Amino acid sequence: MLKLSHLTKVYREKGESVRALDDVTLSFPEKGMVFVLGKSGCGKSTLLNLTGGLDSPTSGEIFINGRSSGDFSPTDYDGYRNSCVGFIFQEYNLLDEFTVGQNVSLALQLQGVKDLRSAVENALRRVGLEGFADRKPNTLSGGQKQRVAIARALVKDPQIVLADEPTGALDSETGGEILATLKELSEDKLVVVVTHDREFAEEYGDRIIELKDGKVISDTEKAPAEEESKGGFKQVPSRLPMARAIRMGAASLRVKPFRLVLTVLLSFVSFVLFGWASTMMLYNRRSVLVNSYYESGNPYVRLEKSYTFRSTDLLTNETQEKSVEGAPMGNREIAALGEGAVGIYGVKSTSVSNLIVSGV
Ligand code: ADP
Ligand code: MG
Repeated sequence: MLKLSHLTKVYREKGESVRALDDVTLSFPEKGMVFVLGKSGCGKSTLLNLTGGLDSPTSGEIFINGRSSGDFSPTDYDGYRNSCVGFIFQEYNLLDEFTVGQNVSLALQLQGVKDLRSAVENALRRVGLEGFADRKPNTLSGGQKQRVAIARALVKDPQIVLADEPTGALDSETGGEILATLKELSEDKLVVVVTHDREFAEEYGDRIIELKDGKVISDTEKAPAEEESKGGFKQVPSRLPMARAIRMGAASLRVKPFRLVLTVLLSFVSFVLFGWASTMMLYNRRSVLVNSYYESGNPYVRLEKSYTFRSTDLLTNETQEKSVEGAPMGNREIAALGEGAVGIYGVKSTSVSNLIVSGV
């Protein structure tokens, strides 16, 4: 639904030009949490602003539901910004002179929506700020202000939420809560979060796109184990050239050393188990026993007869069992064994000459 094709952005200032974004091609799914990760100045905000239609690219196109931004009129851009995209910024960008409710409803007023109150209450409820509508932003904590900003983005019910360093001004615990809220939204929306915090990206992201000097240097997708077992995980088909795929794969191994070690360890364990299981399957106690006697050249083998004697009392119908071990063998049995040993143990007939049977 959202595709960036060969996006380049060059800023010119005082005769100098900065290539903030350099030929970036990406496509985004309809929902899920995508992180754009990279150091300060690598072009993350530029990427987000172009994606949200806040700025236009020097070259390249954005495709929204198959339509190219090249064909967009200024009114189309307004429509896209106002109804398809919700923005969240590091500094919250709330208007201090307005109440929380007014801040949230502003975007809806722009759209001419009438029933503001219930829409605002709904949005505030989704971010856990029920009943905060009449408060002023300066009475709120940083985390609460960011929740108001999320509610403001949500109230338009956009399909895409773009967040630029939403946790940048928060302590890590509050930041984690904000990301958890955004993660919930990503169940039915595309949430793109820009950050330089790799830990957050790895914890909350379904996919991590890494930028450096305006270029995408890696693009990794996380396959959450629970999702996989639910069968809900869809693999994005790869259309990468082999060399690039190998490079990206190697980069992601560096990013996730723990996963690499775990994979090696689990592969090792499964190979050992496989080897053990196949050995056990081929193991036949009788032939091993007989072969080992035979191979060791042992001239004598002592065989004992054991059996279970079962008798039923005809009056009481009670059955009794009695095991007899080391029972004497009759001559006929011994003779039969001379022949039968071949059949019983499956050994070559030559081995029979080595077996001297001693009945007890
Ligand atoms: P990030 O968000 O990753 O820190 P930005 O996208 O803000 O990076 O910036 C990328 C590069 O583009 C930087 O070198 C920055 O100085 C430059 N840049 C960003 N915006 C402008 C602008 N409006 N005018 C000139 N240069 C800009
Ligand atoms: Mg930035």
